[in-house]
Amino acid sequence: MPTLKDVVYEHVREGELYETLDRNRVRCYACGHYCPIPEGQPGVCKVRYNRGGKLYVPWGYVAGVQFDPIEKKPFFHAYPGALAYSFGMLGCDLHCAYCQNWVTSQALRDPSAISSPSQASPEALVRDALRQRAKVLVSTYNEPLITSEWAVAVFKEAKAAGLTTAFVSNGNGTPQVLEYLRPWIDLYKVDLKSFDDRHYHQLGGRIGPILDTIRRLHEMNLWLEIVTLLIPGFNDSDDELRRLADFLANVSPYIPWHVTAFHKDYKMDDPEDTRPEDLFRAAEIGQNAGLKYIYAGNLPGLVGDLENTNCHHCGELLIRRYGYFIENYRLTTDGCCPSCKTTIPGRWASKFQGQIADRPFLPRRRSSLVNILN
Ligand code: SF4
Repeated sequence: MPTLKDVVYEHVREGELYETLDRNRVRCYACGHYCPIPEGQPGVCKVRYNRGGKLYVPWGYVAGVQFDPIEKKPFFHAYPGALAYSFGMLGCDLHCAYCQNWVTSQALRDPSAISSPSQASPEALVRDALRQRAKVLVSTYNEPLITSEWAVAVFKEAKAAGLTTAFVSNGNGTPQVLEYLRPWIDLYKVDLKSFDDRHYHQLGGRIGPILDTIRRLHEMNLWLEIVTLLIPGFNDSDDELRRLADFLANVSPYIPWHVTAFHKDYKMDDPEDTRPEDLFRAAEIGQNAGLKYIYAGNLPGLVGDLENTNCHHCGELLIRRYGYFIENYRLTTDGCCPSCKTTIPGRWASKFQGQIADRPFLPRRRSSLVNILN
């Protein structure tokens, strides 16, 4: 029976996001680590490795597939109510102690992270997505930047079938990987975990590449939303939140900012769970910084108007939500406020097309995705 490492090392092909260095080393630029990788070694993410002076990258499998409401990603300004076919692979360039997807993201780094990947092709994934009437195909769960070559192969197929494509990412990108993705990706969510480089060091990264990625994504005109999981005592001081919100407002006050509630997970069980009043405080800081669209997540029904979308110009209620459920949708066919006619930033369908699910579910038929470890 193959081990997880065997599976990861067998399901590869030569990557495109690298250059060769001296002494058979390669430099990967799929993420902000820019690992120089000696012959026979993997990069920090453990899933891209140097064999014979070439960089091999993940290919031909998924570690998990799920149908999610697009609101779970979360995208609140892109096709509300749409079904998002969400797939992940293995590995991550960071090692956050509170990761909710650690079983796949920490594969080959944490011995208890054992998952069971399935064989997949871009065609099979797109077929599955269309069968359930998904509108969006999302690379998520592990860090998608480190598996960008595979994501692009899937997204090419998805776009040919008329689907929208998206990344749910930690944002630790590089100019090279963003240019590589640009023709094939429509929506991008960045998890801005902190505004303190020391905190990012604890998670295994640096803040610089993440802020740079946010600026570039906005300049590239990809639809961008930002999430900050508010962890009491880690990233929730007024000062840190103020600097974070000022940065975002400076890039654009129209970028939606989701502040979401932490609950104990993986190795982080010290902080208390986030309370509604913590989210209200963060939202007020964002409003004072000038951000126009601030949402509070993970506490449905407890955060008042912060689940809803209101027009930034006249305040009219445009979308009323409960958790991921769309209760009311009032944008015009051209994505404007029905009251003052202001254009609302986002990617909108010409009309609300109903909601297939307001909670995640697994694909019913997965015959085309064959489990590899069985
Ligand atoms: S994706 Fe990032 S962590 Fe992985 S090998 Fe490339 S630069 Fe290193």
